[in-house]
Amino acid sequence: TGGSVWEVDCRVLASNDRLVSLYDLSERVSVAKSHADFVANASHELRTPLANVLGYVETLMNPKAGGNEGVRLRFLDTIRHEAQRMQSLISDLMSLSRIEAVKHEVPADRVDMVALSNEIGGEFRTSATVTVKANCEKAVIAGDRGQIGQVLRNLIDNALKYGKAGGPVEVSIEAASTGWVLLTVRDEGEGIAPEHLPRVTERFYRADTSRSRAVGGTGLGLSIVKHIVERHRGRFDIDSRPGTGTTASMMLPLREEQPAE
Ligand code: ADP
Repeated sequence: TGGSVWEVDCRVLASNDRLVSLYDLSERVSVAKSHADFVANASHELRTPLANVLGYVETLMNPKAGGNEGVRLRFLDTIRHEAQRMQSLISDLMSLSRIEAVKHEVPADRVDMVALSNEIGGEFRTSATVTVKANCEKAVIAGDRGQIGQVLRNLIDNALKYGKAGGPVEVSIEAASTGWVLLTVRDEGEGIAPEHLPRVTERFYRADTSRSRAVGGTGLGLSIVKHIVERHRGRFDIDSRPGTGTTASMMLPLREEQPAE
């Protein structure tokens, strides 16, 4: 029924009664399918840049085609770009598998979201207008510092890649007495069309494939973000208005009570 997969087991008992058992295998089949889809997608994403590298190397090795210095440099630049694409993809795939490996462990570092946001925001400040504002001095969660740092990097990186050239990008932190901290990353870019919005956290899903490839995207950034936030018992959301901008937000439970304002 409705795409379900069942296994039927029928035994004849000593009393000559029949015992019929039904096993619902739908979940096992769907996990196996999503695993197979993931491997197929990852292989496809790697095969394309690899084929480009091989094609350009073969052309360069041909004395007739690879002789011109200008052409040679252009080809080498393309090879470097494609190799970087593979490097980013492998690094994102490794991040996903590391997160999967520790998903049942409770993260325990004491992470101050205000200090960490200032630190990560500062890494990007040379290239764009990234501002960090907070309604509190500190907002401490129990987390994995490296992973939460990666979330911030991915979100700021997306805001810069798809936002208005040169910014502005605003990171905002609001700790509430309800025991939660809300962190948002906002840009003023072209935004994401409503039909794509619910799917952008899926692995390899891109709203604008050619733009993502041109800016070096792997299609894995937001799925990494969602995995990490959920591992921290938090909630990730992305909201966007085409033509106006995008706001990515996460709510995380605070570890320490906020001092009264
Ligand atoms: P990618 O590596 O392609 O950037 P992500 O998983 O980080 O992959 O994001 C998935 C897709 O969502 C992107 O390809 C892009 O189309 C869209 N997207 C993500 N962030 C933004 C943003 N701030 N503004 C507009 N589009 C975005």
